[in-house]
Amino acid sequence: MSSYEIVHHEYDAIVVGAGGAGLRATLGLAEAGLKTANITKLFPTRSHTVAAQGGISAALSNMGRDDWRWHFYDTVKGSDWLGDQDAIQYMTREAIPAIIELEHYGVPFSRTPEGKIYQRPFGGMTTEFGKGPPAQRTCAAADRTGHAMLHTLYQQSLKAQAQFYIEYFALDLLTDDDGSIKGVLAWDMATGQLHRFRAHLVILATGGYGRAFFSATSAHTCTGDGGGMVLRAGLPLQDLEFVQFHPTGIYGSGCLITEGARGEGGYLTNKDGERFMERYAPSVKDLAPRDMVSRAMATEIREGRGVGEEGDHIHLHLEHLGPEVLHQRLPGISESAKIFAGVDVTKEPIPVVPTVHYNMGGIPTLWTGEVVTLKDGNPDSVVEGLMAVGEAACVSVHGANRLGSNSLLDLVVFGRAAAIRAAELVKPNTPHKKISAASEEKALARLDGFRNAKGSTPTAKIRLDMQKTMQKHCAVFRDGPTMSEGVDKLKAVIETFTNDVAVSDRGMVWNSDLVETLELDNLLGQALLTIVGAENRKESRGAHARDDLKERDDKDWMKHTLAWRAGDRDVKIDFRPVHMQPLDNEVEHIPPVARKY
Ligand SMILES: Cc1cc2nc3c(=O)[nH]c(=O)nc-3n(C[C@H](O)[C@H](O)[C@H](O)COP(=O)(O)OP(=O)(O)OC[C@H]3O[C@@H](n4cnc5c(N)ncnc54)[C@H](O)[C@@H]3O)c2cc1C
Repeated sequence: MSSYEIVHHEYDAIVVGAGGAGLRATLGLAEAGLKTANITKLFPTRSHTVAAQGGISAALSNMGRDDWRWHFYDTVKGSDWLGDQDAIQYMTREAIPAIIELEHYGVPFSRTPEGKIYQRPFGGMTTEFGKGPPAQRTCAAADRTGHAMLHTLYQQSLKAQAQFYIEYFALDLLTDDDGSIKGVLAWDMATGQLHRFRAHLVILATGGYGRAFFSATSAHTCTGDGGGMVLRAGLPLQDLEFVQFHPTGIYGSGCLITEGARGEGGYLTNKDGERFMERYAPSVKDLAPRDMVSRAMATEIREGRGVGEEGDHIHLHLEHLGPEVLHQRLPGISESAKIFAGVDVTKEPIPVVPTVHYNMGGIPTLWTGEVVTLKDGNPDSVVEGLMAVGEAACVSVHGANRLGSNSLLDLVVFGRAAAIRAAELVKPNTPHKKISAASEEKALARLDGFRNAKGSTPTAKIRLDMQKTMQKHCAVFRDGPTMSEGVDKLKAVIETFTNDVAVSDRGMVWNSDLVETLELDNLLGQALLTIVGAENRKESRGAHARDDLKERDDKDWMKHTLAWRAGDRDVKIDFRPVHMQPLDNEVEHIPPVARKY
């Protein structure tokens, strides 16, 4: 092994990731007076949160009567009863102060004529516990909400004097001799220098792993690096089989057209010009939750009613909204439609197709952000020194299916909650425990192994094989035989990666070949857990829709999957109960019923 010099740092707390979740946590830690560092592989405002378009939910009642308890109900139902009701209560109740706080931090929300924050309807958001009309609950800054949030949170974090390590790639978690998490090993990509960050608490905010699939709305950088680190630390991930397909990715490029487009009155048609959602969800139609709209579209295509020469996509109409509304409320997607589909949205429909968009699963946590595992029969056993927030985490507020505009909310509410809990757990200037030499050597050996990999198959080829396998074998509709074939194929891909990956650049400075290989390693583990978990779950629930087992099975399957990597190719599976009880008596728990809209 080459020898590596390592620069040493000490902080009270470290956040890995500077998207919405990581920045909100960083800001909270710095404001609480903890010595805080944020390590991020991207410049903060290039994180995927910047691409979030449609908005962030909160029952503010600015544009019609609303109640956070209705938001609570919608989220439990949207999750198909796999969401933890304590965490969902916390999120929907805290949503209101969280948005006001964002407004005061300086997020430039769109406004109503009387100057209040503008709110639009979004899929699955209703009133009166599902019995009333759609709620106008999603707060928006035109169709650039994530962009506005991310810039504001970064500026506030700088003001609070958090320290940023930008374009540093976090490699692995470091532990003490007892196995508690005590820091992170990171690589400064610009200089090639390695850095050891010691801290009492590490908060992973590394985002999703959408790039395990071929067609995804997420950035190429969404490679689930935090999930990869957690698996290598011998800890489990939760519910990875639940992958959200967004109904309206642009056909071909996968670029997103926000659900806000349908919130503003857009609708879908098949090749006969029929507004088919009226058949699938008679009450909410095009504003049904994403899993349902994606399935309806896939069904139309399968049954020969898709549009285009190959009948393989669907039309989204916005023409009738008029240039003024499009310009004011949906300027970004008007531009995307022009660039990526060559369509003038004021005149013609946009060709769209369900596209991988969001990972409901992730690193299991409590509503405080603390990471948990199953230990000595305790399913909520807290992992000392580790927290996770944002799309990397599985709190679980989204359960089997996330409602649109609930992710941006999840980022700020739980980013803030984690910082609050951290301030209780960590006393500034506590002496640091020693990092175990073995844990650091393991991380270095992995890096060194890939850096010197002398196989014959390029990373890009292996990645494509993984993405195509996942896209084909773990899609909107799934069945047992297709998935088991997919598991075998993916295991073969992993074997090629382990034995034959080729890395040609041996340098340490801006070695993108090595970065992509490390990212692929992270993706492969999560791809494997996703498809094995999906094959193992013998029911249909939320985004997990099996053709061979169409019913939800609450008796045997209303439980979270926990999955560990066991060696290169194998997965160990166990379960955690869903938290069915809310936090307190401000709201009543919602018992499971059939999910209809
Ligand atoms: C196109 C698009 C539109 C969306 N629109 C909406 C919307 O309107 N409303 C909504 O609620 N949700 C929306 N979502 C979902 C939501 O935006 C994401 O779930 C959310 O932004 C994820 O935020 P995050 O902070 O968890 O991670 P990200 O924003 O993805 O940030 C991840 C961070 O981790 C860092 N990182 C990752 N790996 C490493 C590593 N190895 N070392 C160091 N740093 C690392 C990166 O540098 C980055 O800063 C949208 C998603 C997409 C893709």
